Amino acid sequence: MQAICVLGSTGSIGTSTLDVVLRHPDKYRVVALTGHKNLPLLIEQALLCQPDYLVTSDSDSYTTLTSLANDTGIKAKILCGADALVDVASLPEVDTVMAAIVGAAGLPASLAAAEAGKKVLLANKEALVMSGHLFMQAVRDSGATLLPIDSEHNAIFQCLPSDFKYGDLSASGISKILLTGSGGPFRTLPLAQLAAVTPAQACAHPNWSMGQKISVDSATMMNKGLEFIEACWLFGLQADDIQVVLHPQSVIHSMVQYVDGSVIAQMGNPDMRTPIAYGLSWPERMMSGVAPLDFSQLCDFSFSLPDAQRYPNLMLAIDAFQQGQAATTALNAANEEAVSAFLSTRIGFCDIAKINEAVVARINTNRTPQTLADILAIDTEARSMAGAIINGMS
Ligand code: NAD
Ligand code: MG
Repeated sequence: MQAICVLGSTGSIGTSTLDVVLRHPDKYRVVALTGHKNLPLLIEQALLCQPDYLVTSDSDSYTTLTSLANDTGIKAKILCGADALVDVASLPEVDTVMAAIVGAAGLPASLAAAEAGKKVLLANKEALVMSGHLFMQAVRDSGATLLPIDSEHNAIFQCLPSDFKYGDLSASGISKILLTGSGGPFRTLPLAQLAAVTPAQACAHPNWSMGQKISVDSATMMNKGLEFIEACWLFGLQADDIQVVLHPQSVIHSMVQYVDGSVIAQMGNPDMRTPIAYGLSWPERMMSGVAPLDFSQLCDFSFSLPDAQRYPNLMLAIDAFQQGQAATTALNAANEEAVSAFLSTRIGFCDIAKINEAVVARINTNRTPQTLADILAIDTEARSMAGAIINGMS
């Protein structure tokens, strides 16, 4: 039995994780569930999973969650606040932590899971974008097992040879990592119309159903930028080891190109339960509930390269990776503020890239954060710069 803690259980990845876990009650036991403000769903999940701990990271929700738990006969210990996320991610009885909180809010608990030597199933890409160096060091020091849940990174992981040595592509005869992306909902929209797109249009991804923040990131392709940085840290890559390829059908989830001309791709329906199930059961495989690919229905596969004018955020992220950890932390923070302002209609779609670019240009990126506190200080500084720019725009 694997004992699991699901950080962010009420989100898109969290609910897909529980869907997979509940298909295999003989293999998994849920020890802790965490949510933020969606208490009815958290209660519903607790009734199904019977966890030992139930956490709301929103301290104001503690009293309500406690009374809802009492009313429904839930016996779990109720905890609240950001520190409680770190506590449950490090519980000695937990084997596996699904890190599925969105954004920088997930960093302390995702990092704590790595430091505690857990099997870490990482969906919270922002944690690695902010703290790649520290995070990978924690994994090495503690002997944690880090498995990527992001579909592209999970695909790359599946296409790499089992003896792949971190950072050494040539030892495995690899020439390129091909990171695929759909191009989002505005791939073919005339550029002049981009400025007027609404949050509802940006959140309507053509192939994937996801949380709001990652949906907007997919529309701007900041998501691919964050994934570019994530891939560099996960596999020890340099920027020129990766090529981003647009593949609008989202059936190929990424590829590895070898020096002999072979390209190994991982395919499947766009459903996160596949990478989640692979992470949970690795190195074995198990049923995930995902329908098999129907080759009688798959018609065209198309590929192209991303256009820098349409996707300035992708280019900003690649540049930031080359500048270092302060730049990637600042970019991530600016982007979270900008996306939130866009979702509340305070700024337009094209302003997101302008804010991101301005913050990375202004902040001192010539420093190397050594601790979580250093990283969080840069995050705070970048958010306040972004906030000032947003106030000036709205
Ligand atoms: P979501 O918005 O659906 O869910 C986010 C979860 O985080 C929820 O449980 C929410 O309660 C919790 N949360 C929100 N704010 C919080 C805070 N301040 N403190 C603590 N918890 C908080 O997001 P999602 O789409 O499930 O994405 C989660 C992570 O997985 C993101 O990092 C995203 O980039 C990554 N990811 C998602 C997908 C996908 O298909 N949804 C695919 C790949 C990677
Ligand atoms: Mg992805």
